[in-house]
Amino acid sequence: MQVYIDGKFFPQSKASISVYDHGFLYGDGVFEGIRIYNNNIFMLDEHINRLYDSAKAIKLKMPLSKTELKNAVKQTHKVNGLKDGYIRLIVTRGIGDLGIDTRMCSKPSVIVIVDKIALYPEKLYKDGMEIITASTQRTPVSALNPQIKSMNYLNNILAKIEAKNAGVNEALMLNTSGNVVECSGDNIFVYRNDILITPPTFIGALDGVTRAIVKKIAEREGLKVEELIFSRHEVYTADECFLTGTAAEIIPVVKVDGREIGNGKPGKITKLLINKFKKVTGEK
Ligand code: PMP
Repeated sequence: MQVYIDGKFFPQSKASISVYDHGFLYGDGVFEGIRIYNNNIFMLDEHINRLYDSAKAIKLKMPLSKTELKNAVKQTHKVNGLKDGYIRLIVTRGIGDLGIDTRMCSKPSVIVIVDKIALYPEKLYKDGMEIITASTQRTPVSALNPQIKSMNYLNNILAKIEAKNAGVNEALMLNTSGNVVECSGDNIFVYRNDILITPPTFIGALDGVTRAIVKKIAEREGLKVEELIFSRHEVYTADECFLTGTAAEIIPVVKVDGREIGNGKPGKITKLLINKFKKVTGEK
């Protein structure tokens, strides 16, 4: 694969950044994960807008206009010619000194990587996935707002390690009040009492692009959709549960902390939304 770095293309083995880049030294930077479906870069505008918001929040001045950045992404896709795949778009603070003063960094770097992705085994999309609750809480909004999709994913990584230690693929993360926020790399939805609920972003969930599509599809299907604050009790006693994300797409959850959700199989509403989502992405 050819990797885009600041306007030039490099083969994967030669694609490198400076060890003085604050993205490497401190996780000081922002990123997006974007899908390619059938040669189409899916929801590119939404991802670019969120990237700009993340950059704004950390006072990182984007080195390219939105149009220039979109062209860089499109060009990288074209050079690599992947019909279906995944794009990682990264903007780092750039090269500085060994301190954390951002004013020492002269120019942010833009990196675009195109590759294949398969987040979870195919079987789990049919049978449903088991998850656990992580003891690692989601970073409080007041400390580092998770709406900033930053290059520091240690909070999520710690939760993912807990999931893997428990022999499952994903971990539910709560905020410091014990309310459900999201999973380590996906948003969560629960279907309960004929209402589809998902936590509001202000309690620490990422404003997921897939989450927004799912909300829209569900409303179009006549479902009642609400952003609500809820605890694990509402998850344990839900009729259905599923996770959403660019890489994950929509994946049913059938067991949480050893409790079967509904009848322990992917629910009717989840399956309906998966089918409708495939129509939106243009998958078979
Ligand atoms: N939450 C977290 C923590 C994520 O990293 C992601 C993206 N992988 C999501 C939710 C889902 O967001 P999106 O649908 O925009 O990919």
